[in-house]
Amino acid sequence: MKVPNMIDAKKRHQNKINYTNYNNDIDKFGNNRKFYVRTYGCQMNEHDSEKIRGMLLNAGFIPSEDINDADIIILNTCAIRENAHDKVFGFLGVLKHMKKTNKELIVGITGCMAQEEVVINNILNKYKHVDFVIGTNHLDRLLPVLKEKIDTKKRQIEVLSYEGDVVENIPVNRDSKYSAWVDIIYGCDKFCTYCIVPYTRGTQRSRRHEDIVNEVKELVKDGYKEVTLLGQNVNAYGKDLYKDYTLANLLNDVADTGIERLRFVTSHPWDFTDEMVDVISNRDNVMPYIHLPLQSGSNKILKLMNRRYTTEEYLKLYRQIREKVKDSSITTDIIVGFPGETEEDFNETLKIVNECKFDGAFTFAYSPRENTPAAKMSDTIAEEVKMDRLHRLNEVINKYSNESNRKMLNKVVKCLVTGISEKDENKVCGYTENMKLVNIKGDKSLIGKIVNVKITDTKSFSLDGEYVE
Ligand code: SAM
Ligand code: SF4
Repeated sequence: MKVPNMIDAKKRHQNKINYTNYNNDIDKFGNNRKFYVRTYGCQMNEHDSEKIRGMLLNAGFIPSEDINDADIIILNTCAIRENAHDKVFGFLGVLKHMKKTNKELIVGITGCMAQEEVVINNILNKYKHVDFVIGTNHLDRLLPVLKEKIDTKKRQIEVLSYEGDVVENIPVNRDSKYSAWVDIIYGCDKFCTYCIVPYTRGTQRSRRHEDIVNEVKELVKDGYKEVTLLGQNVNAYGKDLYKDYTLANLLNDVADTGIERLRFVTSHPWDFTDEMVDVISNRDNVMPYIHLPLQSGSNKILKLMNRRYTTEEYLKLYRQIREKVKDSSITTDIIVGFPGETEEDFNETLKIVNECKFDGAFTFAYSPRENTPAAKMSDTIAEEVKMDRLHRLNEVINKYSNESNRKMLNKVVKCLVTGISEKDENKVCGYTENMKLVNIKGDKSLIGKIVNVKITDTKSFSLDGEYVE
């Protein structure tokens, strides 16, 4: 049994990262057992779930739409805030009851929670119905661990607190036939003081550019229209691997594959170079959408957060992108109630939001994470103050996202139609180049195509439109 250790997880040994290939030599031990994967958290987890499904399908397991019908249930978890934990622990309670009536049911945990010492201790002592746990750094070990569980009936906990390898060619069963996630960099070395990711996802390690480009070439051959390059900080791409090959070079090389739409998330302002801004503005198939987390508008708080930029530097980059990238949409992440945040600091955040007029934002109340430096800071903010600030911030954010959407009214824009609208089953839905969700009057034959859509109405979080020839 291998359990995680947060102190080891923090170490950065400068060991050479191993680049290996997925071991596909596993017997088809699935025997048509049914599996169900539930995903929590960010796009990286969504993509990891696609790999979980890919590996299971390769070994002869079959997917189940209905959780009650599954023989294996995997929770691919997120640790970013406490409420992500609560959801998983709450659901484990439900699964405990399910296991009472279905003794053969196997429950597994993957994802960031699997890398937390406190979670594993909890699972060992209180959640004895969890049959296996696999950490983020060796998801490729899913099948051997599951096989061991099935063969021996013994619980398997395999979580390593080392920096992680780069494993290529893990089978992927993608959610969409038109839009694909592609990892470019794993882990994070930024150590923002509030954030658990550098501990749960290991050191920053880039995939080799030729592996990324080859993956995208295959996706183009398979008819994919859109690729989103993924990483906790995509702008740091290449720093750990090359002397002079950065995200700017990668965007150019991936754009050369002919993929119709190229996106990337998430950007960190610190690593964002002029060359990157130029590539985004010069290449037609690099989409004009940038998610650029601000976190706070107060220099004092940014310093306490270890974000490595000032508001002035953020604004300079922000303006540069707005100036150079035509019809850009810029969204952000903001945390309120970080330890020591005064009303004045919060007002500085509102000020910068009023200045930037973001097209959208994810806003969060600060949630202390075990063993992170911020969790040890004493000047904590009362929950009701955090909630009040969150509420006030959201009002301003919504005002600007409404304004940004309203600017699209009556325009004809290109949309990649991705499926049936969740709002109205007689409509389809899709995304504009600048990443706005549109519910579209038009028939199902449009799904999978990039089409012209006239925007007929705007809401806070979506647009309405109709297909035009
Ligand atoms: N790597 C990205 C970055 O640096 O911007 C995003 C990482 S995280 C998955 C997404 C967002 O969660 C962060 O940008 C931050 O706003 C928020 N977040 C992270 N840790 C948090 C915490 N302890 N409490 C509240 N929000 C948090
Ligand atoms: Fe977390 Fe900061 Fe790394 Fe983003 S850059 S994953 S917020 S430590």
